[in-house]
Amino acid sequence: MADPALPDVIRVPVLADNYVWLFAYAPARCAVIDPAVADPVLAAAAEAGLAITHILNTHWHPDHVGGNAAIKAATGCTIVGPAREAAKIPGLDRAVDHGDTVRLGDHEGQVLFVGAHTAGHIAYHFPSARALFCGDTLFAMGCGRLFEGTPEDMFAALAKLKALPPDTRVFCAHEYTLANARFAITVEPDNAALMARFAAVQAARARNEPTVPFTLADELATNPFVRARDAAELGERRRAKDVF
Ligand code: ZN
Ligand code: FE
Repeated sequence: MADPALPDVIRVPVLADNYVWLFAYAPARCAVIDPAVADPVLAAAAEAGLAITHILNTHWHPDHVGGNAAIKAATGCTIVGPAREAAKIPGLDRAVDHGDTVRLGDHEGQVLFVGAHTAGHIAYHFPSARALFCGDTLFAMGCGRLFEGTPEDMFAALAKLKALPPDTRVFCAHEYTLANARFAITVEPDNAALMARFAAVQAARARNEPTVPFTLADELATNPFVRARDAAELGERRRAKDVF
């Protein structure tokens, strides 16, 4: 993004709709978030002149850890991941949980426990970079499916993310925005901010442009899961979205 005070975060689109992120936290160095695969990530880092020093995993799903072993073999990087899923994270060097910190150069990340999509899912918040790497917990106008958790778990997870500064840039792991928007407008057809965002997102996707990152402020205004009043309402909306 345009703010020169903020470090670059480079998008690497892989598989059908995954985004792998290169967080260029220092000159010529980056951390990779949720590498689904290795080769396009190694190529993107090389092209940007960045050495990969760390992998940060948010959860154990193969489309988030599939590149771990090959990237570690190629770079010798350190792999950081969720303590509650440690046995399922290939090559894990450092298991972290809620309240832990991850230092990358001048940037200190806070680990947030957001188990719901998977039971041990974590997110990484770097306040000095205004960046949140949230894996499959929060999406633009959506949230992750509840594979291992309950609506209560997701409500608690989103409550932690909602409490971060509204100008936080959200780097989620999938381009699910347009499908999420189509569902969201059925929940809140009278939400003007949502209708405007739906139009903007449709136009962006028609031009084949990405819609990630976005800001937490965007979600506070338009995301039916972030805006759910309680866990029961979130659960109702999640079940409806599952069959939408
Ligand atoms: Zn997942
Ligand atoms: Fe995923």
